[in-house]
Amino acid sequence: MNFTKFPRRAYLQGATPIERMENLSKALGKDVNLFVKRDDLLPGAGGGNKTRKLEFSLADALEQGADTIITCGAVQSNHSRLTASWCCKENLDCHLILEERVKGTYSPEASGNNFLFDLLNIKSIAVVPGGSDMMAEMRKKGDELKSHGKKPYIVPGGASNAIGALGYAVCAEEIMNQLNVAHLGIDHIVVPSGSAGTHAGMVAGMFGTNANIPVSGVNVSRPKKDQEDIVHNLAEETAQKLEMKMSIPREAVVCYDQYVGPGYSLPTDSMVEAVRIFAKHEAILLDPVYSGKAAAGLLDLVRCGHFPRGSNVLFLHTGGSPALYACMQTFRKEN
Ligand SMILES: *Cc1c(COP(=O)(O)O)cnc(C)c1O
Repeated sequence: MNFTKFPRRAYLQGATPIERMENLSKALGKDVNLFVKRDDLLPGAGGGNKTRKLEFSLADALEQGADTIITCGAVQSNHSRLTASWCCKENLDCHLILEERVKGTYSPEASGNNFLFDLLNIKSIAVVPGGSDMMAEMRKKGDELKSHGKKPYIVPGGASNAIGALGYAVCAEEIMNQLNVAHLGIDHIVVPSGSAGTHAGMVAGMFGTNANIPVSGVNVSRPKKDQEDIVHNLAEETAQKLEMKMSIPREAVVCYDQYVGPGYSLPTDSMVEAVRIFAKHEAILLDPVYSGKAAAGLLDLVRCGHFPRGSNVLFLHTGGSPALYACMQTFRKEN
């Protein structure tokens, strides 16, 4: 894959580690060797997956002469935190539109990412009801800023368009380089699947490197088929952008939706167990909305024998731990 054709900023500092999770693998007792790709350790305040996407999204904005970024997310959005973070470094203004997906959950006094928005110099926050047309809201804000002489650029939710997804095609190639150097064969990769750029970029990248390692997504909101269609379309778009010669088969996109629970960002028992077990055995902090539910999926797939004995499974840790501090009550032992 050739990424030099696209505007790109340099936010990474080399490859993120791939660690063996020996204690957790042993505790599960299924003879499945678990590994973790530590994208929670990416640079940018608090770390996490959006840094890889923003290398391309913000470079595109700067190339177009933007001085202001508008983006959107949920009330505890990691993507908003990291966009704000890189806007500080790039001397760009940053405005947020937050979707209150669960009614009554926005509080200006909330901890977690919400607390960090202000430290990271956010210029404005507008909160809109769940189900709002976020693109329309961002365009409205853009028109208002233009009338004040600003040059705004809209980064879609999660930076999940083909531009942002390039960041995860980069990650796929980075993983293959690491595995080849370590001569480590991975049989399966498990990723969280939200606004879809991470999953789609990984799928496109696995095809682009001809690595043929299956990538499964664990959903955090949508039903299986809806999410698979969204990921597949974005993976195809990303592959086209990279001028790859093949198309991505629909069957290459597999999602699991049984770990979502009652809905986006709402806690589940299996998420709480996963967060506690990763901390206890591996000293790795997950988050309640994405990596915690994805890890709950990973643990269940191992326990129910989905992966054959002796297989090596790599979990992509996308970050998000600042959100833990916004829901400490969920994790107290007496609960
Ligand atoms: C955004 C996010 C995801 C999901 O990635 P998408 O590209 O939106 O699917 C997973 N984990 C964390 C911590 C995130 O912030």
